Amino acid sequence: MPAKKVILVTGSSGLVGHGLRAAIEQEGRRADEQWHFVTSKDADLRDRAETEALFDSIKPTHVIHLAALVGGLFRNLDHNLDFYRTNTQINDNVLATSHKNNVQKVISCLSTCNFPNKAKYPIDETMLHCGPPHETNFGYSYAKRMIDVQNKGYYNQHGRLYTSVIPTSVFGPHDNFNLQDGHVLPGLIRRAFDSKADGNPFVIWGTGSPRRQFIYSLDLGRLFLWVLREYNEVTPLILSAGADREISIKEAAELICETVGYHGEVIQDTTKSDGQFKKTVSNDKMRKYLPDFKFTPFKQAIKETCEWYAANSDKVRK
Ligand code: NAP
Ligand code: GDP
Repeated sequence: MPAKKVILVTGSSGLVGHGLRAAIEQEGRRADEQWHFVTSKDADLRDRAETEALFDSIKPTHVIHLAALVGGLFRNLDHNLDFYRTNTQINDNVLATSHKNNVQKVISCLSTCNFPNKAKYPIDETMLHCGPPHETNFGYSYAKRMIDVQNKGYYNQHGRLYTSVIPTSVFGPHDNFNLQDGHVLPGLIRRAFDSKADGNPFVIWGTGSPRRQFIYSLDLGRLFLWVLREYNEVTPLILSAGADREISIKEAAELICETVGYHGEVIQDTTKSDGQFKKTVSNDKMRKYLPDFKFTPFKQAIKETCEWYAANSDKVRK
């Protein structure tokens, strides 16, 4: 029997952490994997001493590093410095403490908005450092790119298998439904329910023409399990459905209104930023490893997320 993995999951109370937990429960726990799910209440990972105390108490052999300052376009716009500094601190503490504690494997999480703004589409893993990110989220993007720099350094100097994945825009249960801080789909879901209840027009921020690839948090959780067990490259891996599933914000909004059962007036607030027009990525590398992986159909995933929001709207982050 293989040695038991002691897996520390940072940032486990968030959207992606809950997707990972759901994937583990769906599959059934394995006897050779012991999971520890932590949040900022267990340790403020900006603080080296707290990070080291956490690792001392759990003694992980593997780390899935999700903890980060995360936000949608409008939170990033006004807080680029905070996004850079906070995420740089957290990531340096987690990677350095992992190395100090002889952790065998660390999987960190980047985002497709970290890629260069001007790119040849579809974007692939080799292009991460080939030009500046979109100016709206430069702080978050440069901090996240430095994970890849550190991973390469830990491999070159110490032979460590510290790697990263790059998912597209994630959505699902336990997302952040705060309108100013959150991402587009939870914002649209919340406003569709509100418009259905109060009869006010449903508003799409921006022109609705930017395009995005979305990944359901449960699918991302299933992919994280595979990466933990099978992916042994230091270089990043894009986790995404095919480029054919890219849709406009307007199309996503229409599906959400249909799902929620809102049939009233729809207006656009074009005083709001559109952000990056698109960041279409290729999943060719992932498909070489996982040719048969089935993503949940977008419509079904939106339905499940709307049902979860309806059942939990008094408890969600908003
Ligand atoms: P989230 O819902 O905002 O959750 C963030 C998590 O990080 C929470 O568990 C939070 O703990 C923890 N955290 C924040 N600051 C911390 C600190 N100083 N010390 C310890 N823990 C801290 O974010 P998410 O969407 O799940 O994102 C998870 C990861 O996926 C991040 O690395 C993010 O960059 C990446 N990602 C997200 C998306 C997306 O669309 N959401 C897309 C691509 C990549 P508390 O609950 O205790 O505050
Ligand atoms: P991004 O993918 O990093 O740009 O971040 P978001 O998930 O915040 O998506 C931003 C895009 O969705 C922009 O084109 C916004 O104009 C548009 N959008 C429409 N409605 C909303 C909303 O309620 N919240 C957010 N965050 N963006 C919205």
